[in-house]
Amino acid sequence: MPLDVQCWGCGGIFHETNDEDGWIKLDDGGGEIPNPRVKRFFPDKPATGSMFKLKEPYTSYGWDTFPHDESVTGEALECPSCGAPYVNASGKVQVVRQRLIRGERQAAA
Ligand SMILES: [Zn+2]
Repeated sequence: MPLDVQCWGCGGIFHETNDEDGWIKLDDGGGEIPNPRVKRFFPDKPATGSMFKLKEPYTSYGWDTFPHDESVTGEALECPSCGAPYVNASGKVQVVRQRLIRGERQAAA
């Protein structure tokens, strides 16, 4: 379940964590294992661009944001709205539980 990333500066929510793609379903019905190709968000690990993705509708709007790969770290992880870094002075990203599940969000749009 992805978490919403809340900007320390403007309080806006434009990115979410990429956890959604972080699991692989085993064909034999043995459940799910972490996808080793995905760099998942962990609160205690240094954040990189690969841990986040731009949410809808901002993706459809064509908003310009940092590349979602591991080369982007620290203060380069900028809010696409106000330009504040997603990491604070302690290196922490503010994540909050998503308020709506995907189906409800689509229905509300
Ligand atoms: Zn912001």
